[in-house]
Amino acid sequence: MSKQIELELAGRVQVLRRGLDGMVPVLATILVGGDPSSATYVRMKGKACERIGLEPRRVELPEETTTEELLSEITKLNEDPRVCGILLQHPVPSQIDERACFNHIDLAKDVDGVTVLGFGRMSMGEAAYGSATPAGIMRLLNHYKVPVEGKHAVVIGRSPILGKPVAMMLLNANATVTICHSKTQNLPEIVRTADIVVGAVGRPEFIKGEWIKDGAVVIDAGYHPGGIGDIELSAVIDKCSAYTPVPGGVGPMTIATLIAQTVEAAEKLGR
Ligand code: NAP
Repeated sequence: MSKQIELELAGRVQVLRRGLDGMVPVLATILVGGDPSSATYVRMKGKACERIGLEPRRVELPEETTTEELLSEITKLNEDPRVCGILLQHPVPSQIDERACFNHIDLAKDVDGVTVLGFGRMSMGEAAYGSATPAGIMRLLNHYKVPVEGKHAVVIGRSPILGKPVAMMLLNANATVTICHSKTQNLPEIVRTADIVVGAVGRPEFIKGEWIKDGAVVIDAGYHPGGIGDIELSAVIDKCSAYTPVPGGVGPMTIATLIAQTVEAAEKLGR
């Protein structure tokens, strides 16, 4: 599905470029510090841009960058007419106020859906770029016609980029949603009642196969070294009705959604 999306986007970018006399719309990615996983994610996003004809612009800042310095880099990208989308790779080093930096991204260029205003609009059902990983999950559910309305969705994790927005998106799609987190009691019992399970915990195979009921839809957003997710997938493959593999499930859809939202931003901004 992510490949199909890329094919369609490549056609749209060609049309855009013709209208711009060959000028290429830019997705700017900001990487602060040397975390190897973050560097890999940024590289993969840059390669996806190149495959569809967008220009990736990589901004790399040192580990000791301050909030003020990062804000000033974001201001430059906000003001640059060629930049249509801005992605600040999470997490940034701890001395930086990540929330302030996310919120500083121009809403029209917030193609990774990280600003509070974007989150608020999405939650209220207004037009906004959704956070890329949750929006990619919703695209998958739509594409495969997985019934969501009236189903009990249990989301394990409540991070601003994943757990919270996916819960709001499922709610907007008329699921009955339970959000679980580190203070939740009786997690296995709650997961056993789920028609749709979304693992967004950040701990390898933390969600056990025996917690998941037969016929459930299993979405594993986790990724850990060795291609392991947050859910014990090997124990559910034979009893669930659908699941996202790790790797190759939510990850490629996150990237496809990010670049789709960048193309949409370029079309709206007319550049
Ligand atoms: P995060 O910011 O670390 O959040 C983890 C969440 O899990 C928190 O809400 C935390 O609860 C909850 N949690 C931790 N321990 C728990 C426990 N024992 N029981 C129940 N809940 C618990 O992580 P994230 O950024 O959302 O990422 C989650 C996973 O998704 C990671 O594996 C990450 O690699 C993956 N990810 C994948 C992609 C992709 O493109 N495929 C993109 C983003 C993230 P509290 O709020 O109470 O602390």
